Amino acid sequence: PSPIHVIGGGLAGSEAAWQIAQAGVSVILHEMRGVPGVKTDAHQTDGLAELVCSNSFRSDDWEYNAVGLLHAEMRALDSIIMACGDVNQVPAGGALAVDRDAFSDAVTAKLAAHPLITIVREEIAGLPPEDWDNVIVATGPLTSPALAEAILKATGEESLSFFDAIAPIVHADSIDFDIAWRQSRYDKEGPGGDAAAYVNCPMDKPQYEAFIDALLNGPKAEFKDWEHVPYFDGCLPIEVMAERGRETLRHGPMKPVGLTNPRDPLVKSYAIVQLRQDNALGTLFNMVGFQTKLKHGAQAEVFRMIPGLQNAQFARLGGLHRNTYLNSPQLLDKQLRLKAMPRLRFAGQVTGVEGYVESAAMGLLTGRLAAAQALGRDLSAPPPETAMGALVEHITGGHLEGSKFQPMNINYGLLPPLEAPKVDEDGKRIHPKERGRAKKRLQSIRAMENLKAWRDAG
Ligand code: FAD
Repeated sequence: PSPIHVIGGGLAGSEAAWQIAQAGVSVILHEMRGVPGVKTDAHQTDGLAELVCSNSFRSDDWEYNAVGLLHAEMRALDSIIMACGDVNQVPAGGALAVDRDAFSDAVTAKLAAHPLITIVREEIAGLPPEDWDNVIVATGPLTSPALAEAILKATGEESLSFFDAIAPIVHADSIDFDIAWRQSRYDKEGPGGDAAAYVNCPMDKPQYEAFIDALLNGPKAEFKDWEHVPYFDGCLPIEVMAERGRETLRHGPMKPVGLTNPRDPLVKSYAIVQLRQDNALGTLFNMVGFQTKLKHGAQAEVFRMIPGLQNAQFARLGGLHRNTYLNSPQLLDKQLRLKAMPRLRFAGQVTGVEGYVESAAMGLLTGRLAAAQALGRDLSAPPPETAMGALVEHITGGHLEGSKFQPMNINYGLLPPLEAPKVDEDGKRIHPKERGRAKKRLQSIRAMENLKAWRDAG
């Protein structure tokens, strides 16, 4: 077969190139760093798979942590990113952290030495030439402007986002429904046509005042120079709104109108925080209008002040930063190909996954899918019970119609739920916290079984 072209030699592109070559298909990897004068705003080196910020691949615990599970799945699929990460580990407790330069050098050397891989240092500054019929675009959150522009032209206005304004997302089973209740404002239909798609958390005046104080005093992450995001209405961070006046939030995202607390129908709440169903499974809820630049460490503490969220577990915390990503649920098929131009497949952060490991995982998968196509073999993505399949589901299908698609890290809420036993072998009730852990382990075991079956069948 003719060679497959991979554009971008970051986490996703490096992994994709490796998988293609290991399948016996030749690949040309195009990376713009290394061309004199060409760079991104975050990368510091010319190395492939450079880690632009932290040096951590996060938890390595496959039984109880979703990103650890993703590590395990990738290791089972001959991942170059995991192999080079494992060899270049630095001590970090239960996390997998790496020596970033040694890691990037190892990936670069392994790819350069592979007989089926050619590395070309060049920017692809528009849509790839038409005779490239099997292409993976893995150009990341800082995709070069010329290419981003071309993609935008080919796909339309609503198709590409240039930054994230992320409201925190909470696991539904950590919300206290003795305090919170389901109801949409004025009982209108919510996303998915469900009038109960919203969850409401009521506040009285002292609770509201204390919350505003915590917001105003909490430590904020600073914008980097290049990150300057023009604030526009509907997308202001909540602490910026609070700075404009103590009442602003009560008249904005926390307005208490059109809702009745079933436990106290005659008393009007002073403010109400709303959460909206975030995935089709109904396991995740996002905090409506709560995009924030509060530091991650402070967010959980401040948001647990909200009645009903005192035990909240967060699937992702809020943020606001530069990120180029596709509106994948509209644009990509289950093969991660652009529906309108199937010769282009997308991988990595630009598809709307978040994180080094998630990006590399999507590179791994698209590499295998592209190689299978070149070899004339049928291959579909792994089932949604696997962490990799769950990510594919998130970016191509699991997203709820009517709400804005937002990138996400892997988490157990993206995998189909499983019930863990309520009582042990002796008939004794199992504590909910223990059950939660047991559930994760069962989901992980199911994932690995499904993944191995998929690998062995493919
Ligand atoms: P990248 O690793 O960025 O790779 C894309 C590659 O494509 C780059 O090498 C780029 O030079 C190249 N390229 C771009 N355009 C072109 C073109 N037109 N032609 C040829 N080559 C091109 N995730 C974490 O898990 N932990 C973190 O700490 C973290 N910090 C981040 C900090 C910043 C500032 C940013 C922007 C993101 C961060 N992320 C982090 C998110 C994400 O995990 C990383 O961006 C990750 O590198 C994404 O992998 P990728 O392969 O999709 O993109």
